[in-house]
Amino acid sequence: MGIPYGRQDINQADIDAVLEVLKSDYLTQGPKVPLFEQTIADYSNVPYVCAVNSATSALHIACLALGLTKGGLLWTSPISFVASANCALYCGAQVDFVDINPVSFNLCEFELEEKLIRARRNNCLPDIVVPVHMAGQSCNMEKIHALSLEYGFKIIEDASHAIGAKYLQQNVGSCKYSDITVFSFHPVKIITTAEGGVATTKSADLARKMELYRSHGVTRDVAQMERLDQGAWYYEQLALGFNYRMTELHAALGISQMQRLDEFVDKRHSLVARYNTELSGLPLSIPTQSAESYSSFHLYILQINFTQINATQKEVFDQLRAAGVGVNLHYIPIHLQPYYRDLGFKAGDFPHSEAYYAAAMSIPLYFGLTAEDQDVVIDRLKSVLK
Ligand SMILES: *Cc1c(COP(=O)(O)O)cnc(C)c1O
Repeated sequence: MGIPYGRQDINQADIDAVLEVLKSDYLTQGPKVPLFEQTIADYSNVPYVCAVNSATSALHIACLALGLTKGGLLWTSPISFVASANCALYCGAQVDFVDINPVSFNLCEFELEEKLIRARRNNCLPDIVVPVHMAGQSCNMEKIHALSLEYGFKIIEDASHAIGAKYLQQNVGSCKYSDITVFSFHPVKIITTAEGGVATTKSADLARKMELYRSHGVTRDVAQMERLDQGAWYYEQLALGFNYRMTELHAALGISQMQRLDEFVDKRHSLVARYNTELSGLPLSIPTQSAESYSSFHLYILQINFTQINATQKEVFDQLRAAGVGVNLHYIPIHLQPYYRDLGFKAGDFPHSEAYYAAAMSIPLYFGLTAEDQDVVIDRLKSVLK
């Protein structure tokens, strides 16, 4: 496919770390997972981290730990991967969306406030709001947090794109303005564990609940048990949990990748700076950055003016792909997915998200993108968009 839009970077240290685990006593439930959790905790400056087998699982146990059930309601952004919304449906709760800010592509705090005012009147306030840090740039968490105090909802940051990002000088993941933050380590994200994710929190209680839900709802912690003085074999199931555990192999890869997180993000910033200068004269807008945020730049998303060049999005997309540039589109608005249309959503419900989608295109951005490959991307864009 030529130059992909994103890919992992695996070095010899990463390979050695995984091989070492294969030769060790524990392939799962050993020392690497807690060590990986500690590595993320130290980096994010947060006391509790719960590692799981994907960010999707992390979103699910985050919702469960916050008590989301049938009759509950979760709001998120239509411009995200479907997992940001599906987590509510897993809990039997309902989903609704808050339209994006057309400049940041993030859930818009003003739309959120207006929707909350209406919801209070109609007695249908959300239990949880999931702001998604699109492309690695934090949402306006200060404002969303202030609204959560006023309207009584919980916050899960979907920071799947945003490990290594900062908001108001703090590393995303510290949960300064949220109850729980979720990171993804899928290979296209900033660091990878192949599949994997974590949930971070400042709350001991939420951490304990998430740990239960990730492992069958079962505990071996005597302090949590109903019956005391049983044998050493004894465990208790306290909730209906799942097997969402991360393996030792994945955790070892994650620990090794974390050593290079800042290097990964720095490189993304220099690639972005180059795109910003080289693409500025074209019929498109480049991603805007707010002063409060330091993005991890998971994605470089263009908004292309297709009418100006008299071409369709599909034509440009196909031409770039044919020229070896692995463009992609993040994301198809969730409310327009057939599954969500069947729940009652329709075109026109979230106009900023739909307009964003009609103009969007992600171009290659990843740690291993060479200067030569970036030249190719820039060249092809210039010729296709003229
Ligand atoms: C990748 C992603 C997810 C899901 O992550 P997995 O680890 O693949 O489950 C959720 N939300 C967003 C915004 C993502 O980009």
